[in-house]
Amino acid sequence: VSVLGIETSCDDTCAAVVTADGRILGEAQVSQANMLVHYGGVVPMLAQELHAQSIDQVVEEALANARMLQTDLSAIAVTIGPGISPCLRVGVTKARSIARVNRLPLIGVHHMEAHALVARLMEHKLHFPFIVLLISGGHNLLLVAQNVGQYVQLGTTVDDAIGEAFDKTARLLGLDLRKGGGPALEEIALQGNPTSFPFAVPMRNQKHCNFSYAGLKNQVRLAIESQKINENAPMSLASAEDRQMRADIAASFQRVAILHLEDRCRRAIDWARKIDPTVSCLVVSGGVASNNVVRTKLGAVTKEHGLQLICPPPRLCTDNGVMVAWAGIEHLRLGIFDPPPHLDEPADAWLDLRPRWQLGEIYAEGVSKAR
Ligand code: ATP
Ligand code: FE
Repeated sequence: VSVLGIETSCDDTCAAVVTADGRILGEAQVSQANMLVHYGGVVPMLAQELHAQSIDQVVEEALANARMLQTDLSAIAVTIGPGISPCLRVGVTKARSIARVNRLPLIGVHHMEAHALVARLMEHKLHFPFIVLLISGGHNLLLVAQNVGQYVQLGTTVDDAIGEAFDKTARLLGLDLRKGGGPALEEIALQGNPTSFPFAVPMRNQKHCNFSYAGLKNQVRLAIESQKINENAPMSLASAEDRQMRADIAASFQRVAILHLEDRCRRAIDWARKIDPTVSCLVVSGGVASNNVVRTKLGAVTKEHGLQLICPPPRLCTDNGVMVAWAGIEHLRLGIFDPPPHLDEPADAWLDLRPRWQLGEIYAEGVSKAR
């Protein structure tokens, strides 16, 4: 049994073939790094065009790497949300056409569920229930995963996600964004003093599991303005003194951004144990989970509470096709899939896209306790 997974929800065009016993047979990916460098973010119509240019090649490459033909596949999985509608449309249209021609079942995947479930591909002994922290460019989520498709949401961000805060800070600091804002910031932070700028930890005294990064982003902006760093002057042209200050701001931002995660995880562990005392693992995934300081600090928090920390390897934390294919396998096993699209489905058929799609039910007791 093997599933082709397709991912086009944001700025990466990804495909992969994964088997039911967890072998990654083939992968391919095209990233839109240039768009991020030039426009400072994802421009939906441009991103759609780039997906459309790459999708056929990426799917073919993943299959070729797996030494497989479309007819060898058992099913097609594709991200149907959350994400940018025109981008999702490219992946879903491609997935439907392969499924239609080859009479294959289709699985519509939740992008954030795929980020979470990929932990079970790496760790075959990871059983439900477990706690999940998802930290990425667009989301900050704390969940109890009870089963495939069954989640209790403990907290989310009330404004920005941590990945966005990393990206914004990296930009304000004039870092080289070609490898991504988060990785660039993590690298320069190694040279900085993490306690040199006393940024306030968000929501310290609030009794819920929600996140907020807008205030921290603003504190960083004010610090940069008061130090008169010119974001248009790249690091490579800055004086040694200027460079040290940028490193200090980066390290201080990173320390506080992660302290906020630590606070929320501690609280989430208490809440999760009330929902189900048998939880024994914290899964941390999404692009920011590839950050080494995040891994170390959350490793200490889980140890303190007698839990095991599970982080997928960095290449499976950021967007990838493997996680979508694997989410497809998890659903297929439970018999959750759609039949192949009708043979005469028109090219402009209605597509089930879910640009906004909440993962799981909100933990009601948590909401009332937080008041
Ligand atoms: P979402 O999953 O919410 O839809 P996305 O798919 O765009 O958003 P991911 O690819 O999962 O996001 O993660 C990308 C984010 O992870 C970016 O904000 C990026 O800066 C951040 N990131 C990647 N590596 C690191 C790192 N080493 N340290 C901090 N942040 C990182
Ligand atoms: Fe993602």
